[in-house]
Amino acid sequence: MPRIPRWLKVWLVPIWNRTHRVVGRTRQFATAILQGRCEWCSACGRFGPMLYQARVVPPRLAELWGLTPQRTKALARRESCNCAWCGAKLRARRIARVLLDTYPVGDSLERAPSVAAWVRRPEFRRLRVAEFNVIEGLHDVLLALPGLAYSEYQEGVEPGSMVDQVRCENLTRLTYPDESFDLVLTSETLEHVPDLDAALREIRRILVPGGRHIFTVPVLPGVPKTYARADLMPDGTIVARGPMIHHPGGDHGYPVFTEFGADLPDLLKKAGFETTVSWGDSTEEDLAQVFISRKPDGASIATAGLTHSRPLG
Ligand SMILES: [Zn+2]
Repeated sequence: MPRIPRWLKVWLVPIWNRTHRVVGRTRQFATAILQGRCEWCSACGRFGPMLYQARVVPPRLAELWGLTPQRTKALARRESCNCAWCGAKLRARRIARVLLDTYPVGDSLERAPSVAAWVRRPEFRRLRVAEFNVIEGLHDVLLALPGLAYSEYQEGVEPGSMVDQVRCENLTRLTYPDESFDLVLTSETLEHVPDLDAALREIRRILVPGGRHIFTVPVLPGVPKTYARADLMPDGTIVARGPMIHHPGGDHGYPVFTEFGADLPDLLKKAGFETTVSWGDSTEEDLAQVFISRKPDGASIATAGLTHSRPLG
């Protein structure tokens, strides 16, 4: 086979990559339309195809985590089926649905058609909302809320400080005052926190009585009890108990400290929340549940006892 000159490669590679992307995107659109995956987006409010991407769960990740083909597809649906307009993946759009159901519009108890419309309603513009780590697809519409406090975790950065105009917070030692938020939002965050008890205690502390924490975490079916995948040692080192990264690729990303099981609602109850789950238990077909934890009316700032959520045995 003749060698392709270097100067020609410089021209051909970008063209090849762009063509590959266009073909892939066209295939996603066509598949979504043919399979009837077109709907109104609960985040941006626009109608369009929801684009499934199998590659968000690469074979290496499925192998490391022991995922069956059925679970791999369910996980790929949860992490893709992106709105063609705003990019909100299924789990972000489900959080959006829960927001609309949990905070109905006015006296009519109807829900707004989308979070993009919801954030324009005066009754919700008064809500004080803490979003920890960006919820892709939903973050951009939430920015319209005057009371949005958005922060990101950055390793080694003092909580409460700003980096590139973004506030940094650590869920285990938040710098927000007691009872300063009506709503806390997290998505795929709690599993990465080394001290889950401390994070739940802090979330409860910053919520007003009656305030809610709406969130997603990965919960695989058939895991009855929450357990630790890794431990943070007093000297700061992380000791893994098995595969502990779930970033695409499987070998890099943020460590996963907690594998959540079917007992999660009980753990949240012990941490002082009333919790409901949308879309039922996790199943082989549906892994995109949303948890709604409510701090009871009249609850004190002090947390209920430890959750014992990460047994050391
Ligand atoms: Zn959308």
